[in-house]
This record gives sequence, structure tokens and C-alpha cells, in this order.
Amino acid sequence: MNTIHILKKLFPFIRKYRGSLILALVLTTVGALLSQVTPLVMEYSVNTVQGMLDKPVDKQRIYIIVGTLVAILLGKEILSLLVALGQKFLSDRIRFRMAGDLYDYTINRITSYHLSFFALSQNQTGKLEKRIDKGIESLTKTVKNIFVDILPMLANAAFALMLIYKKNVWVGLVATIILPCYIYISREQTLRQKSIRHNIQHVREEKANSLFGLLESIFVVKSFVRERYETGRQQGINLKLTENEIKHHRTNYLFDGLKSIAEQLGVVMVFTLTIFFVLNKEMTVGAILLHIMLFNNVSSPVRHLHRIYDEYTEALTYSEGFFDMIENDKYLSKKGGIRSNNLQGNFSFQHVDFVYPNGKQALKDVRFELKNGKTTALVGLSGAGKSSAMNLLAGFYDPTQGSILLDGKPLADYDTDFVRENIGLVMQKNHIFSGTIEENIRYGELNATREAIEEAAKKASLHDQILRMPNGYETQARELSGGQQQRIAIARLFLKNPPIIFLDEPTASLDAITTEQIKESIDAVKNNRTVLIISHNISQIMDADHIYVLSEGEIVGHGTHESLYKEGGLYSQIIDSNARTLNIGRLAATVLG
Ligand code: ADP
Repeated sequence: MNTIHILKKLFPFIRKYRGSLILALVLTTVGALLSQVTPLVMEYSVNTVQGMLDKPVDKQRIYIIVGTLVAILLGKEILSLLVALGQKFLSDRIRFRMAGDLYDYTINRITSYHLSFFALSQNQTGKLEKRIDKGIESLTKTVKNIFVDILPMLANAAFALMLIYKKNVWVGLVATIILPCYIYISREQTLRQKSIRHNIQHVREEKANSLFGLLESIFVVKSFVRERYETGRQQGINLKLTENEIKHHRTNYLFDGLKSIAEQLGVVMVFTLTIFFVLNKEMTVGAILLHIMLFNNVSSPVRHLHRIYDEYTEALTYSEGFFDMIENDKYLSKKGGIRSNNLQGNFSFQHVDFVYPNGKQALKDVRFELKNGKTTALVGLSGAGKSSAMNLLAGFYDPTQGSILLDGKPLADYDTDFVRENIGLVMQKNHIFSGTIEENIRYGELNATREAIEEAAKKASLHDQILRMPNGYETQARELSGGQQQRIAIARLFLKNPPIIFLDEPTASLDAITTEQIKESIDAVKNNRTVLIISHNISQIMDADHIYVLSEGEIVGHGTHESLYKEGGLYSQIIDSNARTLNIGRLAATVLG
């Protein structure tokens, strides 16, 4: 990455503010010209005063001269102030608006990405958050630096140098020689900081992610009294960051010192040379002041060059990760594929292998069918690959080998949004957003009426409980119990009313009575839909029209409950264990007898 790359990539965002940028450039030129006024006025003043010392002057003339000088200096200061204000105003406008645009674009991009993007360890939540924040901050700073800082500084330095050369070539040369020294030291400084900066970036992302994880798991931390252990872990990361920051600052102090010496050396050389010319009667006394002030106009922008260079290298460090993140087309969900008006929902897994981005193979040569109007169950021990198969069906991941067909056409050829619009998904652990119960159910259908929401809640056996809460549907959903939150997710499904339903342990956290009620509601909506259920609840499995048994990522049997049980093997073991866990003999004796 270099400046050209960055500017090219940012061009669409900068273009919008070209009017402000042109105005900023005009102000830059005016500001740079104004900066040369004071040294010139000072030179004139000193020379005039010196001339007046030799002969008697009338008071009137003194008042006129002093008054004019004060008016010019004050006028120049007021104009400079207005120009600087205009530049700051424009700079903020460009910087913050561009940051807003970049943020919107980034959010739009990464929410369109495939889940496999988020499964990568470098894209964990906290790390992404830091990358977005720092990326946008440093990139917008760079644009501001280039257009609003560097240009005025360079223009100021260039005008000042031109004036010095015009006065005297030798003094001009001395003032110029210092510049490459200064730039060389700044460059060295930045190069040495490069690796430290990379370390700081990584540790910052790690720190944000770790803090995020800690706060997210605070319940577990407290229940195991692991506060000290966690504090220790955080301290470890913090220590790494502190060490790198200190190293970074130490390097800065050293190089800042060197630059200060170079600058002072420049002042001394310009001063000595000018005195020499003054004593030789080749220059007036005013030239001493003029040259020192002009040299200051040359060196002070260059002094800021390091801050800009520093921020620029920071932007280089962050921009690579940032652009990698927002330009990752391979993770972009497919848009513009098939959108069928007559979706049946017949899925077919054809020799599907699936390997997670971390290399874990979750499915091996899997073949199965989901048929419209039928309920299919996936059964197997934990870790067998059931949820992975469901994730592939919903298009969250793509198969590594083989293909998935939907109504005879490759699932990959469909518009991803279209497929998801037609799928209702209830997972074991459903995400409840911060917001009210009503808002959370409405997520299933954003335009739903309040009546429709209540109807969905009724089907999910939640309505009566909600009414008993002091704030009813306005209750914060995150304050509800796990089972109630699960029912919100089920209500969302009822509200969405999709033709394809995927249920991954939908009643795992519900009590027996609610489980029965939900089962009845789900049974009632099963007709004419494609239903896939993953469950450890044997009554839900037995009722399925077709059952597939998965073991270590492979299908090891399929059929109906009866046929599979007769076959023996894993399925019968699972059913027998279930029966024993339920203490079915005693249960039957009590319930039936
Ligand atoms: P099941 O739903 O049958 O319990 P999963 O489909 O969740 O099983 O998991 C199958 C295998 O894939 C497991 O070994 C699990 O560790 C692994 N796995 C699940 N999710 C991920 C993931 N996001 N990244 C890597 N491996 C995963």
C-alpha cells in the first residue's frame, strides 16, 4: 500500500467533497501568502526605525508609520485567522462526513458477507470492531493531512524559501540544506517505528477482542470466581501493549531531539550568514529578522511533517487490514441469482463434503433429501455434523465438495437473500436483540401489525405470559428467561411464516409442558412445508417422515423410526438410551397404570 493506492481506493469517497477540497486549496494559497507578510513588515520596520535613529523625526510621521504597521499586522492576523478557520471548518467537514460514508459502506459490506468470513480467527468480533474504528480514523486523517495540512505547509515553506532566495542565494542554500537532513531523520524515525506499529495494531485488536470476550462471559467468570485469573490475562495483554507504546515513544523522543538539533543548527547558520552580510554592509539590519522569521516559516511546517508522516504510516498499517476487510469479494453473498415464484423447497445433498475454515472436516460424502410437505429429522451424537448440514442448507457456508440442489437447481445459483427469505430458522440458542419483546418478534416480519405479532406469540405459547408482565410487549426481551427467549424466536418463525422450516433443537431449553405446546403449534404449520428438525427429543424424531442418522460427519443410516430401530446400530442405541434416561418402565407404570 502506498499513497496512490490509498487515494485510488478512497477516490469514490473523496470525489463527493471535491467542492470543499478546491475551496480548501484556494484558502491554502491565500494562507501561505499571508504568512510571509509579517517577516516582510518586520524587516521594513527595523530598517525604517534604524533610519530614523540618525536624524530628528517629526512626531506626526512616527504616529503615521507605527499606526500603518499596526494596522497591516492586525489586518493580516485577522485575515489569517479567518483563512485558518475556513480551513479547519472545511477539514472537519471533509473528514467527519467521509468517516460517516466509509462507516456506512463498511457496515453494508461486512453484513453482506458469508458466515465463513466471521468464522476466521482474525475476524473475531472485537478485532473487527477495532479494525473498523482504527481503519476509518486513520484513513480520514490521511485525507485531511494530504489536502488540508501538507499542502498549506508545503506552500508556506515554498513561498518562504522563494523569498529567502530572492533576498540572497547563499542564505537560501543554507535554509534548503537543512530540509533533506530533516526529512532523512523523519524517514528513519518512521522506518524504525514500522514494526513497533504493527505490533501495537495486533495487540490493540487482541486487547479489544479479549475485553469483549471477558464482558460477554462475565457470568461464567463470576460463577467460577475467576476474576483474578481473568484480570491476570488482561494484564498480560496490556503489558505487551504498554511495552510497545513505551518503545514507540522512546524512539520518538530520540529522533525528535535529533530534529530539534538540525533545526537549531539551521537557525544558527542562517543567523551567522546574515550577520556576516550585514557587517559587510551587503544587507540591512532588518534582514536578520526577516531571514530568521522566513526560516521559521520553512522549518515549522517541516516540523509538523513528522506528525503527518507518523499518522500516514499508521494509516498504511491499518489501511491494509481495513481494505482487506471491505474488499473481500469472495465472501460476498450472491445477489441476482434465481428467484423462483413457485418454490417447492425440495433440497438434495449430493456427495457433500464440508470443511470449516479452520480445517475441521464436519461432513463427509453426505447424501440426503428434504421433501416438500415432509418432515425430515437429523439424528446423531453431539458433534456429528447436524448443525453444519443445516448451515449449508441455509447458505451460511458453501460445501467444500459436492453440491446442494434446491428444486433441482444448484443452491449456489439462487439469490442468497431469496433463499433466506423463504427459510425460517430456529436454533438452539437464538439471538435476542436489546429491545422490547415486540421489536424482537417483529424482526420476523418488519411490517407486521401488532395483531399479527400477538397471534404469533399466542402460537408460541408466550402471549399469556407476556400479558402478565408489568410492561407487557414493551418488556426488554433480554430480561426474559432462556425458555421465554426461545419462544420469542419461535414466535418470529410463526410471524415470518416461511415455506421452509429448519429447527435445530428448538425446544432444548423449554419445560415439558411448553415443549408439548410448541410441538403442537409446529405440527400445525408443518403442512405443505419442508421441515428439517434436529432434536434429542425422541417424540419429535419419531414423528418425522424420514430420519437420517449422522455419525462423525457421515450418514450411517436412514429410514423411518421403526425401520431404523429394527436395523439396530446407532439409532437404536440413541432411542434405547433415551428410554432408559426417561426411566420409561416406571414412567409407563405410573402414567398408564
Ligand atoms: P452437531 O450439530 O451434530 O452437534 P456440528 O455440526 O455443530 O455438530 O459440528 C460438527 C463438527 O464441526 C464438530 O466437530 C465441531 O467441533 C465442528 N464445528 C462446528 N462449528 C464450527 C466452526 N464454526 N468452526 C470450526 N469447526 C466447527
